[in-house]
Amino acid sequence: QHYTAEDITKMVNDENVEFICLMFTDINGIIKNVEVPVSQLDKVLANKITFDGSSIDGFTRIEESDMLLHPDLSTWLVFPWGEEHGKVARLICDIYKSDGTPFEGDPRVNLKRVIKKMEKMGYTNFNIGSEPEFFLFNRDEQGNPTLHLNDDGSYFDFSPVDLGVNVRKDIVLVLEKMGFEVEASHHEVAPGQQEIDFKYQDALSAADSIETFKLVVKTIARKNNLYATFMPKPVQGINGSGMHINMSLFKGDNNIFDDPDDMLSDTAKEFMSGVLKHARALTAINNPTVNSYKRLVPGFEAPTYIAWASKNRSPLIRVPAASGKSKRIEIRSVDPTTNPYLAIACILDAGLDGIDQNYELMPEVKDNIYHMSDEERREEGIIDLPSTLHNALKALRKDEYVQQSLGKDLTNSLFAAKNAEWARYQQTVSQWERDTYMSQY
Ligand code: ADP
Ligand code: MG
Ligand code: MG
Ligand code: MG
Ligand code: MG
Repeated sequence: QHYTAEDITKMVNDENVEFICLMFTDINGIIKNVEVPVSQLDKVLANKITFDGSSIDGFTRIEESDMLLHPDLSTWLVFPWGEEHGKVARLICDIYKSDGTPFEGDPRVNLKRVIKKMEKMGYTNFNIGSEPEFFLFNRDEQGNPTLHLNDDGSYFDFSPVDLGVNVRKDIVLVLEKMGFEVEASHHEVAPGQQEIDFKYQDALSAADSIETFKLVVKTIARKNNLYATFMPKPVQGINGSGMHINMSLFKGDNNIFDDPDDMLSDTAKEFMSGVLKHARALTAINNPTVNSYKRLVPGFEAPTYIAWASKNRSPLIRVPAASGKSKRIEIRSVDPTTNPYLAIACILDAGLDGIDQNYELMPEVKDNIYHMSDEERREEGIIDLPSTLHNALKALRKDEYVQQSLGKDLTNSLFAAKNAEWARYQQTVSQWERDTYMSQY
C-alpha cells in the first residue's frame, strides 16, 4: 500500500501511536531497529534520523559511521502487541550515506538495485512465496530454551492439547491482523516443527515479510512461554528447518514462467539454467551458517545435489505441478538463517544471467538421486552442493558473477563475517571428538 507523509501523520494521530520503530537488517539478516517517540515524526519523515553504522555488523566502515534512515512509507504497520508501554508502529528503512546517496552495503538497497536490472529487461515482478519452518521448544523455569520439543504431548498427563497447535493459531491470527495472507499452516514432519505459508508477493515485499514473520513467530511464542527457533538443525536425527523459495517472473498480470503447452516456458528454463549454474556460490548466501550444513544431508528431505525435477522432491529445484498464475519453480536448499534480501537478490540475478546467456539446461532427473550410484550421477552431470560453510565460501570466491550480485561492500562484509564464523567453529574442539578419539588414541 502506498502512503504519503500526510497519511502517516494522520494514522499516528488516529491510532494513538506513541513510538516508531525504524527497522533495517544487518548482513546476517538480523533485524536492527532505532525506536523514536512520535515527537520525532517530522524528522523521521524528512529522512533525517541518523545512527552509527560502525556498530552494526556489515556496516563497519568507520568513515561511513553516520548513516541516515530513509523509511519506506509503504511498510507502515502498527504492532498488534506491547500496548501496555504505548502503541508501536514500524517502518522498514533503506540506509543512506551522509552524502545523501543510498548505501550499497545495505541488503535492502542492493535488492532494489537487482530489481531495477530485472525491470530494465522487461519484467515487472519477481514473485516470491516462501515456506519458513521452525521449531517450538519448551522453556525452563528461568525462561531459557530447552531441547524439549513442545508437542511431545503424551508426557503432559493433564494437558491433552498440543500446545504447538494453539500457538500456531495465535501466530496466524496476529499475522492476518498485520496484513499477511496466510494460505496454510501445518505441523511439519519432525516433532515440534511447524510451517506457515503466506501468499507470494513481489521480491521486496517478500523479503520484508520474511523478516517480519520471524519477529512475529518469536514474539508470540515467547508470550506463550515457548521458544521458537529458525536454526536449521537444532536436533540431530530428525528433519531440519528449511525455507523453500517459490518464484516466478511476471510481466504485468502474465506469469512468464507459464507455458500452456509445456512444463515450463523457455524463459523459465533459461532462468533455471542460471540458478543451477551459480548454485554452488549461491549456497553461501542461502545457507550462511555452520549449522545450515547439518541440515543439507541425505535422508531428511533436504537437497544435497544440484539438479532439477518435476515429480520427485529430492533435487535442488522442483517444478511443482501447477499452472497459470501458480506456475513456479521452487528452490529447496534455502534455510531461514539466510538474509532474505541477499538470497532473493542473488537468486534473481543468477536467473537473469540464465536468461541472458541461455546456459545449457541439464535434463530433468527422473529417479531419486539418492538411489543413484556416483557413476550414474556423474553420467547425468549431477554435482553436489557444498557440504560445509567453508566450501560454500570457496565456491562464492570463485563466482565473480554472484559477487557482483552482492556488490563490493556486501561481498566484503559477508566474507569478513563468515570467514570469522567458520574459523571459530573450526577451532572448537567438540564433545563428539573427545568421545570418539580420547580413549582410542
Ligand atoms: P509445497 O507444496 O512446496 O509445500 P506450499 O503450498 O507450502 O508448497 O507453498 C507454496 C508457496 O508458493 C506459497 O507461498 C504460494 O503463495 C507460492 N506461490 C504460488 N504461486 C506462485 C508464483 N506464481 N510465484 C511464486 N510463488 C508462488
Ligand atoms: Mg509447504
Ligand atoms: Mg515444509
Ligand atoms: Mg515446498
Ligand atoms: Mg534467452
